[in-house]
Amino acid sequence: RFSTAVAVEEPITPPVQVHHTQLLINGQFVDAASGKTFPTLDPRTGEMIAHVAEGDVEDVNRAVAAARKAFDEGPWPKMTGYERSRILLRFADLVEKHNDEIAALETWDNGKPYEQAANVEVPMLVRLMRYYAGWADKIHGLVVPADGPHHVQVLHEPIGVAGQIIPWNFPLLMFAWKVGPALACGNTIVLKSAEQTPLSALYVSKLLHEAGLPEGVLNVISGFGPTAGAALASHMEVDKLAFTGSTNTGKIVLELAARSNLKPVTLELGGKSPMIIMDDADVDHAVELAHFALFFNQGQCCCAGSRTYVHEKVYDEFVEKAKARALKRVVGDPFRKGVEQGPQIDEEQFNKIMRYIRSGVDSGATLQAGGDRLGSKGYFIQPTIFSDVKDGMPIAQEEIFGPVQSILKFNDLNEVIQRANTTRYGLAAGVFTNNLDTANTLTRALRAGTVWINCFDVFDAAIPFGGYKMSGHGREKGIDSLKNYLQVKAVVTPLKNPAW
Ligand code: NAD
Repeated sequence: RFSTAVAVEEPITPPVQVHHTQLLINGQFVDAASGKTFPTLDPRTGEMIAHVAEGDVEDVNRAVAAARKAFDEGPWPKMTGYERSRILLRFADLVEKHNDEIAALETWDNGKPYEQAANVEVPMLVRLMRYYAGWADKIHGLVVPADGPHHVQVLHEPIGVAGQIIPWNFPLLMFAWKVGPALACGNTIVLKSAEQTPLSALYVSKLLHEAGLPEGVLNVISGFGPTAGAALASHMEVDKLAFTGSTNTGKIVLELAARSNLKPVTLELGGKSPMIIMDDADVDHAVELAHFALFFNQGQCCCAGSRTYVHEKVYDEFVEKAKARALKRVVGDPFRKGVEQGPQIDEEQFNKIMRYIRSGVDSGATLQAGGDRLGSKGYFIQPTIFSDVKDGMPIAQEEIFGPVQSILKFNDLNEVIQRANTTRYGLAAGVFTNNLDTANTLTRALRAGTVWINCFDVFDAAIPFGGYKMSGHGREKGIDSLKNYLQVKAVVTPLKNPAW
C-alpha cells in the first residue's frame, strides 16, 4: 500500500548544535528555580536531543515580574515606534543571517522537512518581523467628533504584559504571530513554548536581544502546560493571554483567565476544514492541491483540509489519482533532500493517529493507501487515504492531526454547504472550481475564518487568520492582530470656544 520511503532507519547527523537550553528571564539564561530539566526528543528516533530547563510556577512568577517591571518602568513601551521598529528590523536581519542554523534546529526538534523549514518557515519569520516593524511607528489613535463642546481623543496604548502559549507544529511561526504584534505595539511578554519543541524559541529570542531588545521585554519559559502554562494563564499580573493549541486546552486557559483577573484572551484552536472539489475542476490540479492541503507538515496543521468533499461526477477519478499521489509521497529523514514528509511530533500523537486509522477501518471507510507505520523507530506514518468516508465517522468529525486524508462524496452545492458547515469547528475551507458563481456562493456560505479558492495554505503577514465557532476567538496576522495588544483610552476635554 505504500512504497516511497527513504532511509528512515539511519538518521542524518543534524548540521547544528544546541546552545540554549535554559529559561530566558530578564535578558539572562537561567536554570529553573527547581533545578529540574526535561528531555526534548528527536522525532526521527525518539532519542534525546538535549535536557531543557523545566519552568514552573516560580519561574513564571519571576518572568512575569521581569515583564511587569520592563513594562511599568520602560524603556520599551515609552520608546518611539521608530526605535522599536529598528530593533525588529535588526532582528529580522539576524534571523536571515542564521537562516540555515535555525531551520536545522527546527527540523531536529520538530521533524519537519529541512527544505520546508529553511525555504519557507524561517523566511516567513523574517517577513513577519519586517511586517510588524512596519507597523511599530504607524499605530495611532483618533480624534473623534462628539456631540457637545468637547475635544475627544481616542488613544491606543499597549495593553501591558502579554502571556503567550504556543504549540509545537510551527514553533517559529507561532512565535512570530504572537511576539511580532505584541512588540510592535510596545508590550512586554512572557512566552511559554511547547514542551515538544522548546529549542527554536530560545535561539531566536537570543538574537532578538542581540538586536537591542531591552531586558525583561521578552521572557521565554520552556515547560509543560498544566504547570507553567496554567501559571501564566492564571497570573494576576498578566494583562492579556494569547493561546494556540487544542480546543480542549483553549477552554481550560479561558477559564483560568476568567477565574483570575479576567484578562482578555485570543484563541487559535483546532479545525476540521472542508476542501470542496466541484465537478468542473481540473482533477489533476485538484488532487495535487487537496494532497497539499492535508499532508503539508505531516498533516499537523490546525487548518488542514481534512474533509475532502468531491463531486460524484469526478469522485472515482479523484480517488484513483489521490491514491497514486499519496503512494508517491516521499517520506523519510527530514534532513534528506527531496523528502516531503518527516516523522510525527511524538509518540502520543503517533499513537493517536494510529488509533484514528483503526477507527476509519472499523467504521467502514475504504482504506486506499497507507494505514501503517514506517520503519521501526521514530514516528513515521505512511500517507494514508480513506474513501467512502461518511460525515458521522470519527475520522470525519475529529481533528486527527496526521497524514490521513478522508474523501467524501457529494452531488449538490447546497448539500455540500450544509455538510461542510456541520462541524463544531470553523477555521478554514478550500474551494476548487472554475465557476465564479459557485465560488461566490461557497465563499459566502461557508462558516470559516479563511476561504481559499483554487489554492490552500496561502499565508501572508497581512492576511488575518483565525476561527469561527470552536476554532477560536480573534485574529492573528494583519492589521486585526494589533487590536489584540492595544488598550483603547478615551480622553475628553471641554472646549472653551467650540467655534474653534
Ligand atoms: P495542547 O493544546 O495541549 O498544547 C498547546 C500548548 O498549550 C502547549 O504549549 C502546552 O504546553 C499548553 N498547555 C497544555 N495544557 C495547558 C494548560 N492546562 N494550561 C495552559 N497551557 C497548557 O496541544 P497538544 O497536546 O500539544 O496537541 C493536542 C492536539 O491539539 C493535537 O492533536 C491537535 O489536534 C491540536 N493542536 C492544534 C494546534 C493548532 O495550531 N491549532 C497546534 C497543536 C495541536
